[in-house]
Amino acid sequence: MDTRSRFGLRPVINVSGTMTSLGASIVSAPVIEAVAHVLPQFVEIDDLQRKASAAIAEACGSEAGYVTASCSAAITLTIAAAMTGDDHGLIERLPDTGGMPGMRNEVVIQTGHLVNYGAPIDQAIRLSGARVVAVGAATEAHGYQLGTAITERTAAALYVVSHHTVQFGLIPLEEFIALAHAKGVPVIVDAASEYDLKRFISAGADLVLYSAHKFLGGLTAGIVAGRKALVRAAYFQNGGIGRGMKVGKEGIVGAIAALEQWQQRDHVAVRARERGYLTLWRESLNRCEGVWAEIDADPTGNPLDRLKLHIDPKQTRITAWDLADALARPSAGEAPVIVRDHEAELHFFFLDPCNLHPGEERVVLERLTSELERAQRSPEPIVTPFYLRDARRIAARRNWPD
Ligand SMILES: *Cc1c(COP(=O)(O)O)cnc(C)c1O
Repeated sequence: MDTRSRFGLRPVINVSGTMTSLGASIVSAPVIEAVAHVLPQFVEIDDLQRKASAAIAEACGSEAGYVTASCSAAITLTIAAAMTGDDHGLIERLPDTGGMPGMRNEVVIQTGHLVNYGAPIDQAIRLSGARVVAVGAATEAHGYQLGTAITERTAAALYVVSHHTVQFGLIPLEEFIALAHAKGVPVIVDAASEYDLKRFISAGADLVLYSAHKFLGGLTAGIVAGRKALVRAAYFQNGGIGRGMKVGKEGIVGAIAALEQWQQRDHVAVRARERGYLTLWRESLNRCEGVWAEIDADPTGNPLDRLKLHIDPKQTRITAWDLADALARPSAGEAPVIVRDHEAELHFFFLDPCNLHPGEERVVLERLTSELERAQRSPEPIVTPFYLRDARRIAARRNWPD
């Protein structure tokens, strides 16, 4: 029986991308099979993680790797590793980092990289006991500022690659790595949703972190790839603060299987299928009054395009955010469609094709055209002040689990 009907959950159609709040991504059949096989069996986890290390090393071109509970856990644990090394006494003392002579406990990060991916990234740093040293302003950072911020207290330099970050005016990765390395400080790259598994290691990053459950289509887990000594020190955190963030056998096997699948996947065919959806949507929606649809490249350079839908509320009689909300909360009998609306106050949202099941692209189009027609017939324009929409969303969660 379908899990959603069994529990009475809404059968959402996901055109927002890989979202933790919707269950991350479609787990591919070979990954499901690999995980199902290991579930009733015992394995020696150190040995399974050795196999994971080899699989990650092969996929990422790194010396070693291991699997964590999530990319967020990987941030905390790799920073812990940069502070403690393989000293088990220090590992058990975290998150206390004060009063330890010679222990480095600061992490430099550009202010424009202080994102919230569901939780604030600075908190993932602070959870380890490290102190955050922000470099530059929100939309502007320079190499000299990073140079001054790195001192004898700096344990690591964290670099974030994501659509969440400011995309201009910041220090490019190559310069960031060169400056940190010139001062003997390791660079950790948070590449949670990046498709390219080799780029950051080959650019000189000491550690690179991925989510196994985003584009890779694994179970919820994090992947750490990088220098052996640092990976080992991060792995040892499982005997310390990592215990509360542990990954099970299913997550480790899922990550190994997802990496194998990713390397075998016919990326050209996937892209062509996605292009078909985008073209269908663009051509149909551009015929709607007040809508301008264009194909938009991924901001961090992943080989993934989305449809960017500009909504002119004067003509459509509905704002971009009200349209997104109407799609998500339809009348009975209609499928809820969740769009990528994190920038909706700028009067656009995106349709992301990467997590669609075949056939759903037609439902998305039908829902969009019917909501646009409904707005045209509405006696009053549908214009919720944006701040009210935000307040409503927060209020709607307040009474959970009611
Ligand atoms: C999603 C995301 C994370 C968190 O990844 P999880 O594996 O879900 O914990 C961290 N950083 C960035 C940039 C992300 O997009």
